[in-house]
Amino acid sequence: MNFHILTLFPDMVMQGLSTSIIGRAKDRGLLSIEAVNIRDYTLERHKKVDDYPYGGGAGMLMQAQPVYDAWMSVVNRIGYKPRTVYLTPQGPTFTQPMAKNFALEKDLILLCGHYEGIDERVLEEIVTDYVSIGDYVLTGGELPAMVMVDAISRMVPGVLTNDESGSTESFEGNLLEYPQYSRPEEWHGKKVPEVLMSGHHANIEKWRREQSIYRTAKRRPDLLKKADLTNKEWNYVRQLRKQWKEEEEQTK
Ligand code: SAM
Repeated sequence: MNFHILTLFPDMVMQGLSTSIIGRAKDRGLLSIEAVNIRDYTLERHKKVDDYPYGGGAGMLMQAQPVYDAWMSVVNRIGYKPRTVYLTPQGPTFTQPMAKNFALEKDLILLCGHYEGIDERVLEEIVTDYVSIGDYVLTGGELPAMVMVDAISRMVPGVLTNDESGSTESFEGNLLEYPQYSRPEEWHGKKVPEVLMSGHHANIEKWRREQSIYRTAKRRPDLLKKADLTNKEWNYVRQLRKQWKEEEEQTK
């Protein structure tokens, strides 16, 4: 998969995406990541890319022309118009299913805004998807683009080895992942749950599933609504909720 990041800060994104699993996947040719410097495309002689917003108001706005020409440089090079994401607090919040969906693309352009954002007219022409990484405002789209590249890359076949597999992770089936333990068997007086040492795979799977449900009910009840649980598992959730309610009332 090929990521093309349109940005005013190419070094920032390239440095942030050169290490660990993503760096290795690049070396193995499974991913390519390029940062296109929007400033290289301005026709303004002082290399300016921003100007005051019409109608007044705080801050500066990135102008349409350099953004459009930077985007066109990628389109001309790859020979078609790929999905183009504008990172913005105004988009739907990025999720794991969205990461999986974007991972099906051959090329993906990620457009990073800065200052007060980008002239609306160029967004209307080039953007196919608006994506936010959460309900807060950052100074630029670079960190959000890096978040997206990281999460999407993990869903590209071959990027994760079997040992790192994403198939049992949080959000699979709308459940959070169960707690995990490594050596030593005892640390600070806390023992690894016995079932995990038993070597009994069916019991381990049962325990993990129950822990996933427990954890999701406790930490992300909103997710649980969409989870595919059996009747028995829903009964377990109801029992947990009853128990937590009683405990809460006792502490009042
Ligand atoms: N004036 C804009 C607004 O109110 O929607 C915010 C502009 S923000 C200061 C500058 C840039 O940071 C945006 O153009 C966008 O690319 C990026 N950005 C900020 N917060 C973000 C978020 N939560 N998710 C994705 N991108 C974000």
